[in-house]
Amino acid sequence: MTHPPTPATDPDSPRAGDPGPSVANLDTIVSLSKRRGFIFPSSEIYGGINAVWDYGPLGVELKNNVKRAWWRSMVQTRDEIVGLDAGILMAPQVWVASGHVGSFSDPLVECQTDHRRFRLDELPGTEDLTQTDLQDPDVVKRLGLVCPVDGGPLSAPRRFNLMFKTYMGPVEEDAALVYLRPETAQGIYVNFRNVRESSRKRIPFGIAQVGKAFRNEISPGNFVFRMREFEQMEMQYFVRPDTASQYFDEWLPRRRQWYVDYGVTSERLRLREHAPDELAHYAKKAVDVEYRFPFGWKELEGVHNRGDWDLGNHAKASGENLEYFDPVTEERYIPWVVETSAGADRAAFTFLIDAYREEEVRGETRVSLALHPDLAPYKVAVLPLLKKRPEIVELCQRIKDDLRRDVMAVYDDTASIGKLYRRQDEIGTPYCVTVDVDTLEDQAVTVRDRDTMEQVRVHVDQVRTFVLDLLARNRV
Ligand code: ATP
Repeated sequence: MTHPPTPATDPDSPRAGDPGPSVANLDTIVSLSKRRGFIFPSSEIYGGINAVWDYGPLGVELKNNVKRAWWRSMVQTRDEIVGLDAGILMAPQVWVASGHVGSFSDPLVECQTDHRRFRLDELPGTEDLTQTDLQDPDVVKRLGLVCPVDGGPLSAPRRFNLMFKTYMGPVEEDAALVYLRPETAQGIYVNFRNVRESSRKRIPFGIAQVGKAFRNEISPGNFVFRMREFEQMEMQYFVRPDTASQYFDEWLPRRRQWYVDYGVTSERLRLREHAPDELAHYAKKAVDVEYRFPFGWKELEGVHNRGDWDLGNHAKASGENLEYFDPVTEERYIPWVVETSAGADRAAFTFLIDAYREEEVRGETRVSLALHPDLAPYKVAVLPLLKKRPEIVELCQRIKDDLRRDVMAVYDDTASIGKLYRRQDEIGTPYCVTVDVDTLEDQAVTVRDRDTMEQVRVHVDQVRTFVLDLLARNRV
């Protein structure tokens, strides 16, 4: 796709240089995820199902922490934004009015010999095509594109709608057709009036939602980057039409900064504005926050000026009045919307990749995940130096029980201390507390920092406060 030129002095510019990915090979992260219980292929014992992934014991903690961090920055710490949890299934008219039935599609081409299907804009040789090129029925012939698997001829592109369909009720007929939502945003628009009236918000105000979305992607892949079932974290900010670009300019850097605050390397983030012919059917302006994945620069989050597209169309289609009345200026208008739309899975994946570290320590490779403590699955591990001594084990259990009233804490005695530390490093646990033989004499334990590997002795009675203070000090 062609992208508008950005000044080379801008650190977000695509021409500012490539910092390279945090890990050279995606397999490093895929195998760590499987081995340590972050992410598994769905239905694996049946050979898996394409583009659906399951979060294991550590993955669910990481993803919950990502969603919590997002909610904290978008709802908890903001006066003018409230939350919502709308249903996944909605009245089918919603998707007609929103334009998804007509326009939520990707260009699909099919190999005439093996009948494999591909998303046209993901075939090799299409990188520089504009959206106008991609709509051209002769594009395949013009560029001489062939099937990347067997070199067979490809069909002309046709539009493929990405929405999953199902039936509501006991009869499978067209009248019972419903869609699995392809974005969470529409649940917010149809509740705009309910939320505004019940929370008595005045414009500008926002509604935030985290939830599942489904897209029948033509070519999913790159692990959890593109899935068919995934989670979004979306916020719709309702504003006076003439202020939309001002709020857009406020939200864009704020959303980029959120990733940096939680540990993503700033140089691996950049902003990319959509070319006019690339804009989604609802968008007046769109800028992606992109991350330098091991497979290239890709969208992490989109910030969109949706104008009055959604509320305007829902007002027309439903016959309901969705205008806002400003009691101060006595104006009446359909608010415009600035949307911030992030993927919870893509964000968790990014934090995981960017946190990956390998270093040589005393001739061995130490792998660690330098996850921000707010995101780490376990905040603290309590480890015995000698598991044969019941007094040591008992004290460890007591310290762990004390800590886990507030945070995720774990006890592990299934290996030597060196190995236990390495295990915790590899899953990103920021602090380890070790109880040793000296503890029984001096009542002090060792607290070890994951990143610096520094160790300090802390009195048993103070260890809970000490660790909780460290965590609180790091909180974003
Ligand atoms: P793309 O161009 O990559 O298909 P999009 O522009 O359609 O993505 P949006 O509709 O803007 O994506 O969705 C907002 C966010 O939702 C994305 O930035 C991404 O984080 C997440 N997302 C979208 N589709 C998927 C998917 N198939 N799997 C995982 N996350 C997704």
